[in-house]
Amino acid sequence: MNATRLLSYLKGYSPELQRQALALLQANKTGELLLKKYPRPHDLASEKALYVYAQDIKNEFMRSSAPISKVIYDDKIHVINNALGLHTYVSRVQGNKLKAKNEVRISSMFRRVPEPLLRMILVHELAHLREKEHNKAFYKLCTYMEPDYFQLEFDLRLYLCHKDEYGELWG
Ligand SMILES: [Zn+2]
Repeated sequence: MNATRLLSYLKGYSPELQRQALALLQANKTGELLLKKYPRPHDLASEKALYVYAQDIKNEFMRSSAPISKVIYDDKIHVINNALGLHTYVSRVQGNKLKAKNEVRISSMFRRVPEPLLRMILVHELAHLREKEHNKAFYKLCTYMEPDYFQLEFDLRLYLCHKDEYGELWG
C-alpha cells in the first residue's frame, strides 16, 4: 500500500496524526473504528430533506446571510484532496435584472454518510457564504456552528482514505 496515496485526504495534518492514521489504514482498522463511532447513515436522502436540514442550520447561526436557494447532491462533484464540496454563486439575468443565487452543491457521496459528517460538510459550505477563503474567520464560523467541526473533518477525511482503499462503509 502506497502511504502517500493512502493519506491523500490528510495532507494538511501533523506528521504524528498522519502516522497514526496510516497505521490504522494499513491494518484495516479504520472501518471498525468509524462504524463504532458512527453506526448509522443519515436519512436525508431526498433533496427536500437536505434543504430543510441545511436551512435549519443557517437559520440558527447565519440568519443575516443571503438566503440559499438550493442544496443539492451533485453526481458530478468528486471529492478530491482538500476540496470537500462546492459552493456556487450563480448569477442569472432575468429580464433586465441580474439575480444572484446561492446554491450549495455537495458530492452525491454524502448521501451515504452518518449525520454528523453530513452536518460538517454543510457547515463548511454554509460558512463559505460569508467567507470565501479557508482563513481564520472561516474556521471560527465553522466551529461556532459545529463545536466538533475539526474532529468531524478529520473523521470525514479518514473515511475518504478508507473508502478509496476498502470501499464504502454505509453504502
Ligand atoms: Zn471550502
